[in-house]
Amino acid sequence: MTPVTPDLARYHRQMLLPGFGEAGQLKLLGSSVFVVGCGALGTVIANTLARAGVGQLIIVDRDFIEITNLQRQILFDEKDVADAIPKAEAAKRKINAINSQVEVIAVVDDVNHANVEKLIALGRGGKVDLIIDGVDNFETRYLVNDAAVKLGIPYVYGGAVGTVGASYAILPHTPKADSAWEKTGYATPCLRCIFEQAPPPGLNPTCDTAGVIGPGVSIIANYQANEALKILTGNYDRVARTMLNIDLWENTVRQFKVAKAYDVGECECCKKRNFEFLDGKFGSSTTTLCGRNAVQLSLKQQAGKMDFDEIAARLRPHGAVSVNKFMLRADIKDNGEPYELTLFTDGRAIVKGTKEPNTARGIYAKYVGA
Ligand SMILES: [Zn+2]
Repeated sequence: MTPVTPDLARYHRQMLLPGFGEAGQLKLLGSSVFVVGCGALGTVIANTLARAGVGQLIIVDRDFIEITNLQRQILFDEKDVADAIPKAEAAKRKINAINSQVEVIAVVDDVNHANVEKLIALGRGGKVDLIIDGVDNFETRYLVNDAAVKLGIPYVYGGAVGTVGASYAILPHTPKADSAWEKTGYATPCLRCIFEQAPPPGLNPTCDTAGVIGPGVSIIANYQANEALKILTGNYDRVARTMLNIDLWENTVRQFKVAKAYDVGECECCKKRNFEFLDGKFGSSTTTLCGRNAVQLSLKQQAGKMDFDEIAARLRPHGAVSVNKFMLRADIKDNGEPYELTLFTDGRAIVKGTKEPNTARGIYAKYVGA
């Protein structure tokens, strides 16, 4: 039987690029990419990768679309808000209309240590070829970083909040140094080589407290997608060896040299291969508090690290906040729904107003950060 030739005409302009060609395009069409989170970064990433002809996109997001998302989340519109469609599903519909050659698997779920490897295994051939991050918290990024290093999968990190954004491509070191990128000398340090620990909650602003500028998100997400296209077409020599950092309000573009971080450090993840986030040692575990319409989040790694005064200052514009030496309590209205958020110094948090662990984790990530 004659194999069906994929329609390559639509990719003509990118096949003209150096190091791309028909061979590169066929590699893209045969590739699977895991898009972790489908908000501001994730929609831009998924849009770009689908138009470029990445064969399979696995899009995972736990959230629904809100009117405040439309300022920057380019795959969504007012009808999606009115219909209360989950982000992953709405993204799948849009991408099917943009490029029917792309297979989209939409999963409406939280990405956590119990399911991340199963999600990666949805990729063609039993695992994805690349993981790209459109999430809003460091806990999930470290989890994804652990999984990427353990399984030897390239991972492109990105983050954008306020007017600032950062991105960095990880070609992970492997135990036998036998990956295509490591054999040719292009492995890069992992996220934990560079940031050993996540910043404590409250230290980093979140989009919901500090705002976010749409063009900053697009620039970072497309920078991530660009690195992904290099990696998926095997152009490892073209991948940046630096971490990009931009501030669109201050007009600064910086490239941090991070290449030596693996050699000089003692990384728990990629050097010692101790996958603490994937093993569930860190990261939040949740308990629904029976009869109280509340969920408890237990964030062990944050014990004693919370700066309540700083967090209180950021939360006050959203509602009443009270602080004592044991806890912080805040009333928050999120998408019209009232919640009461209580933070404890031992790393626990209680979100009152929901019985859903995913909703509680979402409120925590939005207003405290992680
Ligand atoms: Zn590392």
